[in-house]
Amino acid sequence: MNKIYITTPLYYVNDVPHIGHAYTTIAADVLSRHYKAKGNEVFLLTGTDEHGAKIADAAKRAGKDPKDFADELVPKFIDTWKNLDVKYDEFFRTTDPKHEEVVKDFIKKLKDKGHIEKKSYEGWYCIGCEKYLSQEDLVDGKCPDHKTEPVKQFEENYFFLLSKFQERLIKAIESGELDIAPISRKNEILGKIKQGLQDVSISRENVRWGIKFPGDEKQTVYVWVDALINYYSATKIYKELDDWESHPADIHLIGKDILWFHAVIWPAMLVALDLPLPKKIFAHGFFTIGGEKMSKTIGNILDPNKLVDKFGADALRYALLREFPFGEDGDISEEKIAKRYENDLANGLGNLLNRTISMINKNGLEKDTFQIKKVVPDTLTVNGVKFSQDEYYAQHMKNFSFDDYLHDIWWLYIKTSNELIDREKPWELAKKNKNLSVLYHCYKELVQISYLLNPFMPKTAEKMSKQLKTLKPELLFPKLDK
Ligand SMILES: [Zn+2]
Repeated sequence: MNKIYITTPLYYVNDVPHIGHAYTTIAADVLSRHYKAKGNEVFLLTGTDEHGAKIADAAKRAGKDPKDFADELVPKFIDTWKNLDVKYDEFFRTTDPKHEEVVKDFIKKLKDKGHIEKKSYEGWYCIGCEKYLSQEDLVDGKCPDHKTEPVKQFEENYFFLLSKFQERLIKAIESGELDIAPISRKNEILGKIKQGLQDVSISRENVRWGIKFPGDEKQTVYVWVDALINYYSATKIYKELDDWESHPADIHLIGKDILWFHAVIWPAMLVALDLPLPKKIFAHGFFTIGGEKMSKTIGNILDPNKLVDKFGADALRYALLREFPFGEDGDISEEKIAKRYENDLANGLGNLLNRTISMINKNGLEKDTFQIKKVVPDTLTVNGVKFSQDEYYAQHMKNFSFDDYLHDIWWLYIKTSNELIDREKPWELAKKNKNLSVLYHCYKELVQISYLLNPFMPKTAEKMSKQLKTLKPELLFPKLDK
């Protein structure tokens, strides 16, 4: 049995979770469910990043102590994952005292090995990004992501000597020891590393809300360093992992905006302590909402919980991962989700299940013939090449091609079966006492569909197999309230 360790980023608790958080977390859950179903032991880690200026500021604006502020927001994340049917194995909080100990120990070891130096630093700091921006990063003097002017800061900080690891990182990424995907991101990161790595400040003098820097209580640990170490400290803290060779992660799932931290700073910190590198980092794209950048000012931020109320968790999970390739940028909107719901789910899948079962009942067919014994994966022929269905879909998962995985279920099973029924008209065949093998075919296809859909739409898959067993039809996707 393989052991697979999958992580989402730790999300900042400066605000309630939005659809972007949901996107990464759903994808991680789909992978986890898939690998679990294949008999692997999976550990899925998610959680919250609770230190730093950004959270201190948000707490201050709310008139709260940062820890109380975080304590109030954490349940919102936990509830959202529950609503979305995300089954993580641990929820990690960077304010966990056990984590703080691991972070201090980690940094102390970096220091002892001579990888940390104190230097003075002056630069432009974006609180939104929680990092210093170089002149080249700025657009019209502002952070391109946050559209705010960075603040000039002068500090005496502790620096991690990142520049020492340039060649080692290039080698690790080029050889595939550290696999970065999609390939465009890998090339982007390699290009940046080859331009030269600067040592990076890993402590903050002006930020009080953070883990005290070991050996210098006047400074706190840079929030990103604190957060990255969670992937390691989780493997030390949680009992379930005791018997695991759990570090490093097999898959770090992230958004493209935080690739630098994961693909450069984090691996360099690990190399510095002779720890193994994560196996794979996948950076997904960003989406616009109805063609516009998601922003508070525009007021187009989608709340995943409201979408669950309207469409159900499964439909939302489906629509988000079906709409565009996971590694690329795309667009999503409530209208698009509604369209997927009506076309693909209600009229596609729901209709196929409903009419197949109804016709089996109506025609008094031998019920014994319609029994799920065991799912025997089909053989597929795609472009003239034969595949085992299992391998074919597993390959899509391996490539993080969630959209292709779902597209192919619809294209190869649902659409063809619905067309077959339209063409063969079993209700007319029945009147003429003709062979109704078309229904048997559709039934078999539905068994396959419920098996394949399970990681994406667990509740739907469960309802489908129940109906396929009892032959009692029930609406899978009711009409949406307008
Ligand atoms: Zn910024």
